[in-house]
Amino acid sequence: MKILILEDDPTQAASLERLLRRHAYQVVSTLDDDEILFQLAEGMIDLIILDLGLPGASGLERLRRWRSAGYATPVIVLTARDSWHERVDGLRAGADDYLGKPFYQEELLARMDAVLARSGRGQPGELRFGPWHVQEGLLRHDDGREVPLTITEFRLLRFFLAHPKQILSKRQLIDHVWDDQAPPGDNAVEVYVSRLRDKLGRNALKTQRGMGYQLGEPTP
Ligand code: CA
Repeated sequence: MKILILEDDPTQAASLERLLRRHAYQVVSTLDDDEILFQLAEGMIDLIILDLGLPGASGLERLRRWRSAGYATPVIVLTARDSWHERVDGLRAGADDYLGKPFYQEELLARMDAVLARSGRGQPGELRFGPWHVQEGLLRHDDGREVPLTITEFRLLRFFLAHPKQILSKRQLIDHVWDDQAPPGDNAVEVYVSRLRDKLGRNALKTQRGMGYQLGEPTP
């Protein structure tokens, strides 16, 4: 799932990028029109997070331009707090949802899930690994078995599921799965991988010696 961020405040852009990467999204952060149009034309973007207050062409102008060019990519606009007219303008211009700044990270993630589900791109609650339904907090087997899943285990498993063919190094896993305020040691990765194996079977995650881990097959 690839998310495009248009945010001119570097601190906010960086914090959004970290948040989304941590939740296993791929992120492109740019204000460059050519780059944006290229990404949209290639169909590579699943959702756009658009700050309305941008230098040059405003967020609204950009959104109107994308919509009139026929791009239906879902858009969540970030508006100034309590600015109801910005929300109305944003929705009129073709935004799918809005969020007033400052916002809680969990709220943004929830709105992204909802917008992606409505657009048919995301299927929250439908993340699967073989016979398992994977949710934050819970693994549910088709046969009815349920196994608890911590938030970190969930993020780790979702990151593997988002990159099923790739060998993921410990460094990549740490960068993408853990909050960079509190990066864990290499040991923590081993601990969490082995917890997931306890829950999903020895072959669920394969060790590629010296390189990292790769998604395998869960025990049926
Ligand atoms: Ca701004």
